[in-house]
Amino acid sequence: MLKKFLLNYNGEQLKEFFLSISEKSFRAGQVLKALHMGLEFSEMTELSKQLREKLENDYIAQPVKIIKSLKSVDGTEKFLFALYDGNVIEGVLMKYKYGYTICVSTQVGCRMGCAFCASGLNGLIRNLEPAEILGEIIAVNRYLGGGLGDKRKIINVVLMGSGEPLDNYDNTVSFLRLVSMPSGINISQRNISLSTSGIVPKMFELANENLSINLTVSLHSPFDDEREKIMPVAKAYKISEILDACSNYFEKTGRRYIFEYVLIKGNNDTKRHADSLIQHLKGKPCHVNLIRLNEVKENDLISTTDKEAYRFLGLLEKGGLSATLRRKMGEDIDGACGQLRQRYIEENQLKVEN
Ligand code: SAH
Ligand code: SF4
Repeated sequence: MLKKFLLNYNGEQLKEFFLSISEKSFRAGQVLKALHMGLEFSEMTELSKQLREKLENDYIAQPVKIIKSLKSVDGTEKFLFALYDGNVIEGVLMKYKYGYTICVSTQVGCRMGCAFCASGLNGLIRNLEPAEILGEIIAVNRYLGGGLGDKRKIINVVLMGSGEPLDNYDNTVSFLRLVSMPSGINISQRNISLSTSGIVPKMFELANENLSINLTVSLHSPFDDEREKIMPVAKAYKISEILDACSNYFEKTGRRYIFEYVLIKGNNDTKRHADSLIQHLKGKPCHVNLIRLNEVKENDLISTTDKEAYRFLGLLEKGGLSATLRRKMGEDIDGACGQLRQRYIEENQLKVEN
């Protein structure tokens, strides 16, 4: 039988769980804290040896283990994580003046198949459970020497690693509730951003969850026909529908939304694109985040030059949009989404074949 993750449970569920195994309900609070600190059952010395062994036998305390970390010259650190079933996922840690931001994966692989992205190269392998998404953050917080409450090292979370969070909707929403529980690692929902390729019905559903997270949408083109060529999901949902879903999100939550726009040379970085973006977005409560493409060897798309990227930014600003060009991060360590994992799989396959 597969072992279960206690990190999938909130306080109430843990209480029920301990009562169901004839333990006192106050264990729930102790164990929840310990799990969110990153402890293994064997380290939970408040528990009797017998209880520790019982939990160890049937459950997994920490579903995510760091197997490799790579530090970039710019301070960005990339992690390769092992899951209980041998799959690997990745996360990126970025240090800002006010603390750390972590970018986590929500799926092993991705089935959206965007042309520029390394995460989708092998399709979707499986969804991550809430405990596994949470486990990425807990593992890195412990690695940094952080604890809970004021001792937390990680301040912000972005769901921008491998996977499409809204294609793993229920687990992602459970994760969002677990990670922001005051009794646990307690990351404020206002400091969490969810990035989606634009799965419109799920964007409407998310607006009704009573969460105060930030919504980010990967737009990458203002034209439906051109968007379809780089993002197959665009065949299902049109830009006008995405904009309606964003407006609805703003009405329901009062939160501004963000568009991600990866600049690909000659593909989506011309004045025609800038003008159309301005036409679509002017006056809306949104922000545009331009990103220079991280080139991956599996396709021949190339990045817009720095000079051209600033020119594009200038056009948007002149047109009245709020926009920024994201600073380059971790290029020397396969910074783009899915690249490190892809490299790891390739290296390990080579080893198998040799
Ligand atoms: N699936 C979600 C979230 C994960 S991807 C989404 O698509 O939004 C997070 C962001 O990384 C997206 O904006 C995506 O377009 C971007 N991205 C993917 N591959 C990239 C690359 N090679 N260079 C730069 N950004 C990339
Ligand atoms: Fe999936 Fe996002 Fe990569 Fe597209 S960009 S393949 S949706 S992870």
